[in-house]
Amino acid sequence: MLETPPETDELHERLAQVRHRIEASARRAGRDSAEIKLIAVSKTHSPEVVRQAIEAGASDLGENRVQEADEKIEVLGRESVRWHLIGHLQANKARRAVALFDVIHSLDSVSLASRLDRLCEESERDVLPVLIQVDLGNEETKAGISEAELPELIKTISACARLRLVGLMTLPPFADDPELVRPFFRRLRELRDALVAREVFGANRGELSMGMSHDYEVAIEEGATLVRVGTAIFGERQAIGRN
Ligand SMILES: *Cc1c(COP(=O)(O)O)cnc(C)c1O
Repeated sequence: MLETPPETDELHERLAQVRHRIEASARRAGRDSAEIKLIAVSKTHSPEVVRQAIEAGASDLGENRVQEADEKIEVLGRESVRWHLIGHLQANKARRAVALFDVIHSLDSVSLASRLDRLCEESERDVLPVLIQVDLGNEETKAGISEAELPELIKTISACARLRLVGLMTLPPFADDPELVRPFFRRLRELRDALVAREVFGANRGELSMGMSHDYEVAIEEGATLVRVGTAIFGERQAIGRN
């Protein structure tokens, strides 16, 4: 983390611009922008830079690695914002994740669900909100479960006393043209709608965590309620081989 922090004004400006574009996309889709939450993805950025984002009004931060988040939360505080885990969670990091994160977007296996539930019990955490990460691109290398595996994982979660299933998340295959990922966003919404009809989310509306810097506007048009935006807020990440 050897970056020089961007000027605070610049960060404010970028954040304001993203908010403005979120509102414009919502309007185009006939949606209320109040139902869309911006998650500022702060991975690879230093606590100093992240602090500027918090001061500029970021209320929700996304991190993809437990260890890195742990170091930042140590500096910035667990309660200063809501912390979202958006990257794949390894079993041996699950205990720490339960202590650190408000929401986990990347639940992707039956065994991880059972483990998280047990760890919540051990650490006396009553409720852990989770989203299931669905791999709609059928990319072998990507994290997330296939559509076919959804029912079994949902069943497992419903038997976990301390996990609350709040929605679905996806990370579509990268495409330069955001229009090419629109079908993936639409498919995730269809899956969500089918689960809402079955009252799988209880009183919850069923969150759709989808859309990143280059495609969040399309994601919002397709129903995203949680957009995960890094680069458009913090600038380019340094290529340090860890995404
Ligand atoms: C890094 C990351 C993002 C943000 O990507 P940007 O292109 O920088 O906006 C969103 N979601 C996940 C899962 C990520 O790992």
